[in-house]
Amino acid sequence: MPTALITGITGQDGAYLSQLLLSKGYRVVGLVRRSASADVIGARLHWLNVADRVELVDGNLTDLSSLIRIMETVKPDEVYNLAAQSFVAASWQQPLLTGNVTGLGAANVLEAARIVNPAVRFYQASSSEMFGLIQEKIQSEKTPFYPRSPYAVAKLYAHWMTVNYRESFGMHASSGILFNHESPLRGIEFVTRKVTDGVARIKLGLANELALGNLDATRDWGHARDYVEAMWLMLQQDKPDDYVVATGRTTSIRDLCRIAFSHVGLDYEAHVRVDPAFFRPAEVEVLLGDASKAKKALGWEAKTSLEDMVSEMVDADLVRHRAKAGL
Ligand code: NDP
Ligand code: GDP
Repeated sequence: MPTALITGITGQDGAYLSQLLLSKGYRVVGLVRRSASADVIGARLHWLNVADRVELVDGNLTDLSSLIRIMETVKPDEVYNLAAQSFVAASWQQPLLTGNVTGLGAANVLEAARIVNPAVRFYQASSSEMFGLIQEKIQSEKTPFYPRSPYAVAKLYAHWMTVNYRESFGMHASSGILFNHESPLRGIEFVTRKVTDGVARIKLGLANELALGNLDATRDWGHARDYVEAMWLMLQQDKPDDYVVATGRTTSIRDLCRIAFSHVGLDYEAHVRVDPAFFRPAEVEVLLGDASKAKKALGWEAKTSLEDMVSEMVDADLVRHRAKAGL
């Protein structure tokens, strides 16, 4: 039975990846950072009914000693580095922490792997945010990067360290340049989930309006459940490499609102208010990915449409709010 170590197992992708790897017969071990509320750790793993089937170990991406110890005791065959300060907006408030965790943290995991077992297969969660101020209309593995936030700068460092460890030490280190991917388990601060949560509250009469920032930005949104399959496929290849993972369709926040509100028979224009407080110091206006390399080499393509995903998210938020409000 192969063993996978997942950093960031308590996050959105960590939960879906755990579910996928368990279904394939893996032993799944997750690195979890110390929290004052240990009882709430694993809410997403519980949602997918996998909490009882994964092992959790204490550690932190900023603590190399903990990573070395975990590598030694867990003896993983595959390491998926998903842990990060992952919210772009927060990266301007905590740029140095973001650099430490999202950037140097990845280097720590690579170092732990190099020291303990350089033959381990390593996945780095890179991001389309690295394209930032886009240099090509459709972004592929060949598109030059232009990061626009401390988050994206940190991810770029981690990405190049992954490439460098592959080239310097021959490690099986791959980087997935994933475009935005969402699900009912997405953090509520991200725009898709903020919208679906808002739609549910407005539909149930618990709120009347939803304040958002830039409605004109567009994103290439896919489903996290589909995207974790691409992560796994990358580590099953003979050779490590970098792959863009995307749907090839880009949609504005405005149209996302239209789709989400209309799912419950509401008009978004009657409820959405633009609040400049949610504008960013520097914006990524458009992202649109070309995943043809992943399709050709991995046989991967996105399966879930934006409409189906948004409906699933709105329905899940309706269930959550009905339960909370006792409706
Ligand atoms: P989440 O924000 O949902 O999860 C982040 C995870 O990192 C959580 O488990 C969190 O733990 C953990 N973490 C944060 N800081 C530390 C630390 N110092 N030490 C150990 N663990 C830590 O992210 P997603 O699941 O959405 O994304 C997974 C990865 O993919 C991230 O690296 C993200 O940046 C990247 N990515 C995501 C995209 C997306 O659209 N979702 C697109 C491209 C890349 P805790 O529960 O304690 O907070
Ligand atoms: P990101 O692509 O990783 O930054 O993912 P987000 O979901 O946080 O943001 C996607 C886009 O939605 C960005 O261009 C934001 O500026 C835009 N956006 C507009 N209003 C909001 C909002 O209220 N919250 C967030 N998070 N993003 C918003």
